[in-house]
Amino acid sequence: MEPKEASFYRKLHTGECECALCPRRCRVRDGEYGFCRVRRNVGGTFFSTSYGRIVAANVDPIEKKPLADWMAGTNTFSVGTFGCNLDCRWCQNDTLSRGDYREFPDAPYYPPEQLAKAAIHRGCPSISYTYNEPAVFAEFVIDAAAAAHRAGLKNVLVTNGYVTLEAAAELYRDIDAANFDVKGFSADFYRRNISGELAAVLDSVKYFFSLGKHLELTMLIIPTLNDDLETIKHFIDWVKTELSPEIVLHFSAFHPAHRCMELPPTPAKTLFAIRDLAADAGIKQIKLGNLRIS
Ligand code: SF4
Repeated sequence: MEPKEASFYRKLHTGECECALCPRRCRVRDGEYGFCRVRRNVGGTFFSTSYGRIVAANVDPIEKKPLADWMAGTNTFSVGTFGCNLDCRWCQNDTLSRGDYREFPDAPYYPPEQLAKAAIHRGCPSISYTYNEPAVFAEFVIDAAAAAHRAGLKNVLVTNGYVTLEAAAELYRDIDAANFDVKGFSADFYRRNISGELAAVLDSVKYFFSLGKHLELTMLIIPTLNDDLETIKHFIDWVKTELSPEIVLHFSAFHPAHRCMELPPTPAKTLFAIRDLAADAGIKQIKLGNLRIS
């Protein structure tokens, strides 16, 4: 399988390709990759090097995505490729997220129709695009999700929401449900710890919600980095006013990983305090995850 020409970019007179898939809008010189290590300029044409290259595939309970209030009790065929357009200091999946295709030479190629057949063969009524950020393999998600719908399957996106609205219009078209990972609720936090822009994430969350699809949100609570209760209250208020109190909110405990090994795990009492905050604000469903209570 040859690399597929990317969508969402333009050729510049300098020979660079300017990517319009995520708000980073990388300008990529000939022979180089964008920040995500997936999209590459070869002779002035931009390619998606991960199209259909499934590096991770598992059957998971839908609740593990996490989706608490959608097709409960079913399994979902979960697939991921490699690369990411953010750089979280605590990434728990950095082999996939910060790798590139040269590190996965044997990754099997799944044409979109074959992915749907593989899901059906495993008894899954849905496919989840997950593990690494699906926006960076948007072309494949778009084709695979359309093929899944033709086969009578549903589609789930587990995403950081860091995508331009022009790309989101296509990326979300055949997605039925999503969990967006909002990593904190301060622009400064996003810039310092993730190398991203919070406003762009909130725009794509709102856009997805406006499409009437099933939406849940997750926030990983990291001691000293984003566990300030006042800021979390602002997030909860934003969900209530800009979205709906019916949106399921997941708050998860951090455990030391990647470049955050020096930080302690999130105490259970912090998550309990956040749950009370959200409940007092009128959020109907609040889920706590990754808690280890001894
Ligand atoms: S998708 Fe990749 S290449 Fe495109 S702007 Fe984002 S990080 Fe850069």
